[in-house]
Amino acid sequence: MSNLDRHPAPTLCGGRNDVLARPVRELLPAKDVPLGESTVVRRLLPSMGRRMVGAWCFVDHYGPDDIAEEPGMQVPPHPHIGIQTVSWLHDGEVLHRDSLGSRQTLRPGELGLMTSGRGIAHSEESPREHAPLLHGAQLWVALPEAHRHTAPVWEHHAELPRVTGGGGLAATVLMGELDGASSPATAFTPIVGVDITLAAGASARLPVDPDFEYAALTMSGEAEVDGVRLAPGTMLYLGCGRTELPLRADADSAFMLLGGEPFEERIVMWWNFVARAQAEIEQARGDWMAGTRFGGVEGYDGAPLPAPGLPPVPLKPRGRVR
Ligand code: MN
Repeated sequence: MSNLDRHPAPTLCGGRNDVLARPVRELLPAKDVPLGESTVVRRLLPSMGRRMVGAWCFVDHYGPDDIAEEPGMQVPPHPHIGIQTVSWLHDGEVLHRDSLGSRQTLRPGELGLMTSGRGIAHSEESPREHAPLLHGAQLWVALPEAHRHTAPVWEHHAELPRVTGGGGLAATVLMGELDGASSPATAFTPIVGVDITLAAGASARLPVDPDFEYAALTMSGEAEVDGVRLAPGTMLYLGCGRTELPLRADADSAFMLLGGEPFEERIVMWWNFVARAQAEIEQARGDWMAGTRFGGVEGYDGAPLPAPGLPPVPLKPRGRVR
């Protein structure tokens, strides 16, 4: 999915300044954002309180929405640079098409990972015949300097490693590694993304990396993460410095654990682009509007998304920040 905002504001993120080296419990409420005509998503990152968690720089949670009588998700072709998009479903399906010629229907438990590198375009839509419920998360991972101009790649991972713990915990590893189980997905920074379900009455301690910062995103139910009950649609920032994470749940619950080494580089986000300076954003916008660089998306029934106008205040180029 994507930023469909007609007046997106530039966001500066990254660097060490915002990273909390110690364990914390910082609740980040969601902001409702319309996505197209029929969908509202809850945006957790970037937010007023926090811009990144490791290299994770964009987090939307959507649904569960009843789309039985609706077209569902309809996101026309649009471009990306400088990120990987991570698509993850709990209910329903999404048909992905991109300018590499990929055409893939994603289903719950399958990872759609699109490395945009220097540029790719894609569309996402509920197939005409679809399940009544749509529920998932759309996440972006910032690419580090050494890899952000790489060639675009689409990956579909239907088989992902699972970790089960005594006490009713089951985890699927989307990105990175958890308790010795490694995802086959390509990652460019030390990062982890895990989908965790807790059965009613579950109690577990999850091993985590003290050098990573973490956040937990509720998907369903109200899991308790480090003693904090997570209402649906909230994210809990956890900081760094933990070796394990206490989890429990009174009722069946699911959440995503996102983490990674703090992202040292300063980045500029605007619309669907992540770069390092204003000129790059302007260039990417111009290339999209001119129909160059990104390529076309075959088969989507509708026009590509035009880029919004650049904001009147120039995007600030990044400073060199530790
Ligand atoms: Mn997108």
